[in-house]
Amino acid sequence: MVGGGLAGLVVATEVAVRGKRVLLLEQEPYLGGQAFWSFGGLFLVNSPEQRRLGIRDSLELARQDWFGSAGYDRPEDAWGRRFAEAYLEFAASEKRAWLRALGVRFFPVVGWAERGGGLATGHGNSVPRFHIVWGTGPGLLEPFLRRLDSLEEKGLVRVLLRHRVEEVLVEGGRAVGVAGVVLEPDPSPRGAPKSRKAIGEFRFLAQAVVLATGGIGANLDLVRRYWPKYLGRPPERLLSGVPDHVDGSGILAAGKAGAHLVNLDRMWHYPEGVENHTPIWSRHGIRILPGPSALWVDATGRRLPPPLFPGFDALETLRYLRGAGFDWSWFVLNLRILKKEFALSGSEQNPDLTGKSLVQVLRNRLFGPPAPVKAFLERGKDFVVAGNLSELMRKMDALAPGVLDPARLEKEVKARDLEFLNPFAKDSQVLALRGFRRYLGDRLFRVAPPAPILDPKGGPLVAVRLWTLTRKTLGGIQTDLEGRALTPAGNPLPGLFAAGEAAGFGGGGVHGYKALEGTFLGGCLFSGLQAAKGVLKGLE
Ligand SMILES: Cc1cc2nc3c(=O)[nH]c(=O)nc-3n(C[C@H](O)[C@H](O)[C@H](O)COP(=O)(O)OP(=O)(O)OC[C@H]3O[C@@H](n4cnc5c(N)ncnc54)[C@H](O)[C@@H]3O)c2cc1C
Repeated sequence: MVGGGLAGLVVATEVAVRGKRVLLLEQEPYLGGQAFWSFGGLFLVNSPEQRRLGIRDSLELARQDWFGSAGYDRPEDAWGRRFAEAYLEFAASEKRAWLRALGVRFFPVVGWAERGGGLATGHGNSVPRFHIVWGTGPGLLEPFLRRLDSLEEKGLVRVLLRHRVEEVLVEGGRAVGVAGVVLEPDPSPRGAPKSRKAIGEFRFLAQAVVLATGGIGANLDLVRRYWPKYLGRPPERLLSGVPDHVDGSGILAAGKAGAHLVNLDRMWHYPEGVENHTPIWSRHGIRILPGPSALWVDATGRRLPPPLFPGFDALETLRYLRGAGFDWSWFVLNLRILKKEFALSGSEQNPDLTGKSLVQVLRNRLFGPPAPVKAFLERGKDFVVAGNLSELMRKMDALAPGVLDPARLEKEVKARDLEFLNPFAKDSQVLALRGFRRYLGDRLFRVAPPAPILDPKGGPLVAVRLWTLTRKTLGGIQTDLEGRALTPAGNPLPGLFAAGEAAGFGGGGVHGYKALEGTFLGGCLFSGLQAAKGVLKGLE
């Protein structure tokens, strides 16, 4: 088992619990991978949490949303598509019960990510489906780590940290093991870039090799090399939304061993990244999980067209902004909107949910902003605050001199503000905001009462400069439904398996072009379970 992130932990524990011996190799000095940092949002369909909030979801609706977002259009999508069908069934049936049996619990208010905003057959979630794990990413990891510990005590699992796999050993067309280097100890904190200095070598033979090494998001050379053509030119400046270990080494090793690498030009990056004021990893950016009310304008102050409002369609917005010619864009809002709507992705940015404190969660969501958002407001390089629009625009210009057209921005702000003044409107964002507030979860926690930005009761004005933030790799090692790595000819490469982000979350690209969110951790769980089944079958 190569890689001790969520997918690796699922495979290792599922295989070992059936009495097979597992050797888990991990290059970092700890287990957990990206899931440790994750917000813990999980895609579930027709859950009790949804039903309690009056959301009527169904497998049929979820399938319509998924396929409308995926846009599969390549022959190599065949396995991703099959994975998607199976994953949707899982998300609508045993996923929640399985997790609950393991001890995972959910925050009762379901979030609405990727709202889409186009046609029924297009991208986006028709209903809220983003279920936040109580305890965020660490809360999701907890039961798997506990299980691993007990299997280690029984002698069924052996974990070797600081072991970096560099090669999959192939003999007679079969993967027979892995080789790599032992890395020197590095006491720096979790997530910080780690030394890659080798102090030894290793070579292990096994009946099955499973790669669950994550994607390429922190390897900006690879991100640029495979940058999707449909997104235009890659930005000069990219922030990284993932720790340095997300370097693509496992995917490359699989390719060298003869596995088919597919859809590497499909990536899930965010246009709402801000530079972390206290970086942990290289070029550390944080994603704003925006509520839908902020006015979104490009670097010159021109408003983005519908449906490119905050939280509607991440990739389409990124595509539009790449065409707009600058590496950054702006949210313009006021403090009242920020208090209600701004959240930051990541376990460390949500100590209330991560620490499982209901009192803190309620206080932050009802009377916000939470301390991490406040810290960005005060110390974030990309945030400016002002008492009036002229001053705000002067401060925006000081951050990026000579690009903003103040007359254009003023016109955009005032024009949208006018639309709030009566119950009718033609502005799609204003109409959408009124619609969202019919959902109790949004009204309570997520969507500010629709009102002009320049309303004096809205408090000081805020502008946030946004950058592209790399995050997920939607392609990778092509596998079949049992996680068996396939060759370019479409046959299984005997002995080699892949799961999680390294396998495009299943099949080499379960998402197609776009994701509905919460489907990455979920994709690791499901592709991990599938790969474990494949490994066990192969060992019989
Ligand atoms: C801040 C943040 C927030 C997120 N929020 C969400 C969310 O709310 N919902 C959601 O669905 N997803 C979310 N994600 C995405 C999700 O966390 C990841 O896609 C998922 O955890 C990937 O798991 P994995 O096991 O496939 O890979 P990883 O977590 O990347 O684990 C791979 C492991 O393999 C090790 N490794 C890599 N190469 C080698 C090698 N050559 N030799 C040995 N070891 C190696 C790495 O060190 C790492 O520990 C978030 C991610 C981040 C960073």
